[in-house]
Amino acid sequence: MASNILTSSIVGLDGHRVDVECDISPGLPAFTVVGLPDTAVQEARERVKGALRQSDLPFPRTHVTINLAPADLRKAGTHFDLPIAISVLTAHGDLPKRDPLERVLIGELALDGSLRPVTGALSTALMVKQLGIKELIVPEGNAAEASLVPDVDVRAAATLRDVVLHVTGTQCLLRTEHTAHPATTHNIIHPDLGSVRGQEFARRAIEVASAGGHNILMQGPPGSGKTLLARAFPSILPPLTHDEALDVTRIHSIAGKLPRDGFVSERPFRSPHHTASGIALVGGGSVPRPGEISLAHRGVLFLDEFPEFNRSVLENLRQPLEDGTVTISRANGTVSFPARFILLAAMNPCPCGYRTDPDRPCSCTQHQLHQYRKRISGPMLDRIDISIDVPSVPTERLVDLEPGEPSAAVRTRTCMARKRQVERYRDIGILTNAELTSDHVRRLIKQNDASRTLLRRAVDAYRLSARAYFRILKVSRTIADLDGTDGIEERHVAEALKYRQPI
Ligand SMILES: [Zn+2]
Repeated sequence: MASNILTSSIVGLDGHRVDVECDISPGLPAFTVVGLPDTAVQEARERVKGALRQSDLPFPRTHVTINLAPADLRKAGTHFDLPIAISVLTAHGDLPKRDPLERVLIGELALDGSLRPVTGALSTALMVKQLGIKELIVPEGNAAEASLVPDVDVRAAATLRDVVLHVTGTQCLLRTEHTAHPATTHNIIHPDLGSVRGQEFARRAIEVASAGGHNILMQGPPGSGKTLLARAFPSILPPLTHDEALDVTRIHSIAGKLPRDGFVSERPFRSPHHTASGIALVGGGSVPRPGEISLAHRGVLFLDEFPEFNRSVLENLRQPLEDGTVTISRANGTVSFPARFILLAAMNPCPCGYRTDPDRPCSCTQHQLHQYRKRISGPMLDRIDISIDVPSVPTERLVDLEPGEPSAAVRTRTCMARKRQVERYRDIGILTNAELTSDHVRRLIKQNDASRTLLRRAVDAYRLSARAYFRILKVSRTIADLDGTDGIEERHVAEALKYRQPI
């Protein structure tokens, strides 16, 4: 007797239909899984047998073969346990045979028969909707994320036995109502920009970076407040839109990094340590998983001690910084993940840290300094729109300083500026000034004569490259957006020129 149950396999961000076919034939007891299963899927055999036994459900004492089709699609993960168990029970005649297109199942089985949450449930729910299938059965821990997709009948189960009762029609699983992605809430975890005293210049620079989605590099001695500025950065970013939040949640789901409530509602802030490996940063592995740059999608990637990162690891960021996606090559094809993030980098001005500090002497040699700066390549710096100095503020001045403008006030301006960008770029499929190509800049950016003259003079005086020229124009455009102005004016270019501190 044979049976067929549907589940999914996640490739990159997308769920693909997989048919779990089971055939039971006479012969010595054996349990075989074929169809390109990875180790986790092979181990499903032990979990399925244990869970069936503990649930007082029979496991055939003959030859059982599971075929995962299509055979050329790689199957990875633990979510095959539940569909395999149901397929075995159906083939054995313990469950009624139904049209496979009726439902999709995912879930990992514990040996006691309970269901554990799995990765990629949101991607599976989107696949279910696309295929026009009505019902999706998931472990309880995945119900919240799966129910983000409308028009899918999501049923959450606690145990294998619950699923069996549902399939036989004895006791139906409760339906999880569709929830629209919750509105983003702010400042639960991030420090407020108001807690940064002094540093008006740096505060303004990160406001501009936030408004236009620009990558930014901060240089300053230890204790100058770079880290606090960085940590406050997410609090001045506009909230995630619904579509952005779905994408971000999907990535975190596949990486197994969803928060307890089942969705990401705030812009991500990722701060990997400088010892992070290439795979941890950009993604990869035998079953490609999103790395830090994809977990930072539509949010911030904070790289503290920027020159301490392995140079070859940093070079891997160049392409994603350009394209907003990362492509991982594997023996059996390539996988892409989105990676549109704001790079926020911080560094000391020299190895000892005190080169720009008026009160402490720098102990670095010219050679050390040269080696330190060389760790960041020119092409990498070309992808950073804003580069600033964050000087140390003497302690005696710090106590006199008033708290800065709070994040909420700054965010009102950045939201307004982003809205202008979204409207302006509606037809070209981008959201921020930072994403403009040079061709876009030529076609879409208006500037008055005075601003053009100033920029030309700067190009001559500083011998700016074409790339630098376009960077300044993009930042000027953001400053004009913060100003609520349609064309770039002289003062916007003048301010943008201040954000190019060389390293
Ligand atoms: Zn030094």
